[in-house]
Amino acid sequence: MELNKYKNLLFQKIKKQISVWFEAKNHLQIANSEVFLFLHSIHGSSGTLQLEDIHQLSGKLMNQIEKLNHKHWEQDELRNFLDGLISLSYENEYFVVVEKNKELRHGENVPLIQIIDDDVSMLILLKDALEEKGWMVVANTSPEKAISQYFDLNPDCVIIDINLPNINGFQVLDDLQQHNNKQFVPKIMISILNDRKTRINAYKIGADDYIEKPIDLEELTVRIERLLNRKKLFDQSVLLDELTQLYNRKFLMDVFKRNLKELKWNEQIFSIAILDLDHFKQINDTFGHLTGDKVLFTFANFLKENIRSSDTAFRYGGEEFVILFENTSQTEAVEIISRLLKEFSVIQFEKNKKSFTVTFSTGVVTIHQSETTMEAAIKAADQALYKAKENGRARVETMDKPSLEITKKPLFVSIIDDDVIIRTMLMRILKMMDFDHFELNLEAFEDGIQFFNSPRLEEVGEHFLILDGVMPVMDGIEILQKVKKNKNGRNIRVLMLTGRKSESDIERALKLGADDYVTKPFSIKELQARIHRLIKRMK
Ligand code: GH3
Ligand code: MG
Ligand code: MG
Repeated sequence: MELNKYKNLLFQKIKKQISVWFEAKNHLQIANSEVFLFLHSIHGSSGTLQLEDIHQLSGKLMNQIEKLNHKHWEQDELRNFLDGLISLSYENEYFVVVEKNKELRHGENVPLIQIIDDDVSMLILLKDALEEKGWMVVANTSPEKAISQYFDLNPDCVIIDINLPNINGFQVLDDLQQHNNKQFVPKIMISILNDRKTRINAYKIGADDYIEKPIDLEELTVRIERLLNRKKLFDQSVLLDELTQLYNRKFLMDVFKRNLKELKWNEQIFSIAILDLDHFKQINDTFGHLTGDKVLFTFANFLKENIRSSDTAFRYGGEEFVILFENTSQTEAVEIISRLLKEFSVIQFEKNKKSFTVTFSTGVVTIHQSETTMEAAIKAADQALYKAKENGRARVETMDKPSLEITKKPLFVSIIDDDVIIRTMLMRILKMMDFDHFELNLEAFEDGIQFFNSPRLEEVGEHFLILDGVMPVMDGIEILQKVKKNKNGRNIRVLMLTGRKSESDIERALKLGADDYVTKPFSIKELQARIHRLIKRMK
């Protein structure tokens, strides 16, 4: 018997029901008997259709609620309750064969590989192959976009095609090389050329490896793996940041521990400040990344020369610095920082005959208890820093008022997908995520027209769109095109969901400036990790 047709009908039925329950405009309560009947019917049909996992789960859920005769469900509560079932229907609908042996590693520590190639088929092929290994991959067709994403996302390895439009691969390599703050980021050049001169040139400019097209995927992954291992060793062994010659964050832990000991035995308190340059992205955008690097270098030197010998400065990451003030109260630390701020903000930088000045914001925290973890201290300082940004930048704040007073910035995440299962699932995934400084404002739309008819894009704040590439009414590409024309379009992050076969869609999405794409069917965990990665950068 051809089961697929009936399976499809079952999925349609599930979709219809969850759409009625969870997307009703006016908030309604749902009678338990209604839920029970629904599960009962799913249980029956899934058994017949040999959908074993759905069959079992719906049976289990039925048992759980059978006795709750007079219960009425709130929407959110029911959505949580049915979450497993919704995910299973998704997996069953989209994954024809569930790939059980594909052991994906997820989370923060997955290596991130950046690929730059204007040949989209190649890009898709490589991305698939490397993701199969459990790595996360960002793909770029445009060198300009690639360079700016390199700074935003800190990849662990970069693969660059030599023949690119406008800027060639050597130029990209050279740009990344000149910016030498990265401790060691392996760069692999790929090309159809394989003459001696090209290879030598690549190595001279700084390539760590060179691979000729057509690429042997097995060999490529082994070579990437080897470079990633080397990078790990390298990262573990250095304590100095290359660009600024300050200590890196690894060494901060040592100094922090030493100070805790002093606190424990000698009751000597100490303070920590996080300093973050103001509007640094603008400096990069206006004057180029190399000028940005120069500002970082100058700032680091300024710190070194102007703090006491008992204080230590660290480059904490990107344009963020930490100073640990030994044996120093909050008031003293704030005084020192205020003086530094005053002196640094008058330093004139110059580029293309234009001069500019730079300020920074600071959060200070003082450690009085020897049980304090470094994580807690940094978090508190970070909250104070956030307050400093909120209060107008170029200032110092502390956390003596309770943190509840902090108003979080809104983050508008819009999901546009015509499939209700995907909408519901994405809503769930996002609601479970923790966005630190952001207050999540989430809304789902069935199509682009609905989205543009809503006042969504006029909302002031950061925007993040998750777009389905293929939709009957106004597809993802059209939406992306329209969004990018919006006056804030440049700053709206976009993640595209695309069909595996729609190469031209992927190509257009990347050309139009999508920040990332994921092919359907996607694994829920992978999608979660990607969203996190893209949003984490939006501070
Ligand atoms: P805010 O005042 O809110 O801090 O705004 P901002 O633009 O400084 O902050 P945001 O965190 O948005 O941008 C930081 C930018 O710093 C993003 C990234 O491209 C850039 N960046 C990070 N590391 C480096 C680096 O080593 N060199 C250069 N040139 N830029 C870097
Ligand atoms: Mg920052
Ligand atoms: Mg900044």
